[in-house]
Amino acid sequence: MVKLNENYKSLKQSYLFANIAKKVGAYAAEHPGAKIIRLGIGDVTQPLTPPVIQALVKASGEMGVKETFRGYAPDDQGYPFLKDAVRNYYLKFGVTLSNDEICVSDGAKSDISNFTELFDKENAVLIPDPVYPVYLDGNLMAGRKIVLAEGNEKNSFLPLPDKSAEGDIIYICSPNNPTGAAYTKDGLKQWVDFARNKGSIIFYDAAYEAFITDPALPHSIFEIDGARECAVEFCSLSKTAGFTGTRCGYTVVPETLSIGGENLLKMWLRRQTTKFNGVAYVVQRAAEAVFTEEGQKACKEVINYYLGNARIMSETLDKLGVWHTGGLNSPYVWMDCGMDSWEFFDTLLNEVNVVGTPGSGFGRCGEGYFRLTAFNTRENTIEAMERLSKLYK
Ligand code: PLP
Repeated sequence: MVKLNENYKSLKQSYLFANIAKKVGAYAAEHPGAKIIRLGIGDVTQPLTPPVIQALVKASGEMGVKETFRGYAPDDQGYPFLKDAVRNYYLKFGVTLSNDEICVSDGAKSDISNFTELFDKENAVLIPDPVYPVYLDGNLMAGRKIVLAEGNEKNSFLPLPDKSAEGDIIYICSPNNPTGAAYTKDGLKQWVDFARNKGSIIFYDAAYEAFITDPALPHSIFEIDGARECAVEFCSLSKTAGFTGTRCGYTVVPETLSIGGENLLKMWLRRQTTKFNGVAYVVQRAAEAVFTEEGQKACKEVINYYLGNARIMSETLDKLGVWHTGGLNSPYVWMDCGMDSWEFFDTLLNEVNVVGTPGSGFGRCGEGYFRLTAFNTRENTIEAMERLSKLYK
């Protein structure tokens, strides 16, 4: 009889968002007139920008004309026009890449999981806690040993390596989901040095880099000396440009990255050319439009809108004297809720009709904390903060 992958049994059921929906649904049914404000939304809410739409329309037209129709791309790691655009974008951070090092993908989630295929099951995986749950579940599915790097108020939810830490594969997410905390160059340098000493690899998730406003903070791990010898970077246009439903991202694998004499870029290309047939031409044209001057301006307007909401939340918590991270370089605000995360969820829902995400859903260290997101409207964010202030008073 066929045997199943037993590792799936070690996965916890993902109850977080289902539970939230159930509780909110029950409350709404009992209180039909209530205006519930959702600050738990993890998806973007603003539409694609005009430059992106124009590119999509133009590329779609090309697909209907024999001379400009495109089938399989000649290089399924991305068209040169998009690789050029990404390469030029990195130059703004002082990072020089070659087009070969940029692998266009249908988003960061799939690449973050797929890249682990290049590594043996026996590797230990170091994952920050709390964090985006995909890192943990992806490695549990493969049966790998997990070690958690504890985030807490003392380290401002930015754990640094300690000598005793095990970790052949090290995940870093900056700015972090859910905490919104972002590493400084010095913090990342410590991780790079640690990885190089141990012969480990860093999986750097830069999905929220476009939200960084502090000019001193790094957007890419490749701003750090030595990172080309120990890191790969996953990035996404999902939150940067509203591509959650359009699907495009890119993974950067330095040509200089080898382990035991094996070149990782070659291995990744071997994997991708076998199992992946590239991103749709029209979507790559839309992604190219994100990186034009006009496209960047339009994206920044949307990001600034979200960041404006985040700042309002952060300032409200400051006034209330509530410890929190995030909000300045991230669409997420992570607050100390002073009680069990789910108890706080219930209190907020029942007392002031505001919905957020219990921190415990992102890892054990998230217990006692709560995530608010900036993806609702300005008006609703302001109203939710007024309600929260009343509750605290
Ligand atoms: N990485 C982090 C930290 C995220 O929060 C998300 C989405 O929420 C992703 C990656 C997924 O990005 P994509 O939509 O490109 O798969």
